[in-house]
Amino acid sequence: MAMNFASRRDRLRIAFRKAGIDALLVTDYTNVTYLTGFTGDDSYLVVRGDGETIVSDPRYTTQLGEECPGVDLEIRPPGRGIMQATARLLRRGGIHRLGIEADSMTVGFRDRLATRLPKVTLTPVSGAVEKLRQVKDREEVALIRQAARQAEKGFEALRHTLRREMSEKQAADELEHQMRLFGAKEAAFPTIMAVGPRAALPHASPTEQPIGGDDFVLIDWGANGGLYRSDLTRVLVTAKISPKFERVYRVVLQAQLRAIAAVRPGAIAHEVDSVARKVIAKAGFGRRFRHGLGHGLGLQVHEGPRLAVNNPTVLRPGMVVTVEPGIYLPGWGGVRIEDDVLVTRNGCEVLTNLPKRLEDIVVAA
Ligand code: ZN
Ligand code: ZN
Repeated sequence: MAMNFASRRDRLRIAFRKAGIDALLVTDYTNVTYLTGFTGDDSYLVVRGDGETIVSDPRYTTQLGEECPGVDLEIRPPGRGIMQATARLLRRGGIHRLGIEADSMTVGFRDRLATRLPKVTLTPVSGAVEKLRQVKDREEVALIRQAARQAEKGFEALRHTLRREMSEKQAADELEHQMRLFGAKEAAFPTIMAVGPRAALPHASPTEQPIGGDDFVLIDWGANGGLYRSDLTRVLVTAKISPKFERVYRVVLQAQLRAIAAVRPGAIAHEVDSVARKVIAKAGFGRRFRHGLGHGLGLQVHEGPRLAVNNPTVLRPGMVVTVEPGIYLPGWGGVRIEDDVLVTRNGCEVLTNLPKRLEDIVVAA
């Protein structure tokens, strides 16, 4: 599938005028990938009004030729630092006002660059590329779908092999292995596999505790399909469903389904968050939902837009967000249900489709 990197750079150039710059030095590696397809690191991209150049080193010459044919290269010889090579390139470019990525560049780098480029005004620019990345094109959505399938198939395979004696760590390793068998490059992030009370910890890393050590296990995982990622959460019940679990689970599921129904173009991020928050608060668990409802997803597992209290972002077609309400009760555990949702022209499409009704999540382990 061909990605249209040139059109992304053209859209970035449109933002130049608003930012008052005539070139942007892209130092965030993920942004370099987004704008060129190059997946290595230690390389910067200069986007000018009339072209673009990647500053890299000889280790990457072959990979650059394969991944981003047509983009000019400035390959620095051994002994010339990336700062030096970038400054040399910029001095040749007739650039007066250079945008720098305020959220990626260190203060030290900025100061050294300014010393080397006395005639260039450095203008900090925040989120220019990240803003473009929020709205996915067709190719990006296809790759997120692929990562979603890999995560789902891996999960289904784990479900069939899950045993009460397995440790959290063994089960997490098995899930990641299965995703790779289904084509994933690797896990999108370290898998959370948290039994019982540990499910109340937001970032529990897997331990030697057995899966059957309590009544249920929370699994938060995703696939990195090579470039794009998926991110899901399900809870599996390994014993009899207790009344308390049933009550908590039904509230979280209702909050999630209502919030998903509110995802559409024109909806405000914080409004979607509050739809879920109200359901949970009405059930008496308001103080037990302690994080934002969701986040954008793409080249990174966490990107814009966040679905969170106070975020005024207006949702647009092509945005992909997670919807993941949760209730966490210290000492007992937690329930979170997470799916990946694409904003479409007239509503939304849920890209992840693993079953989540209460009767679907019981495993005979
Ligand atoms: Zn997650
Ligand atoms: Zn998430």
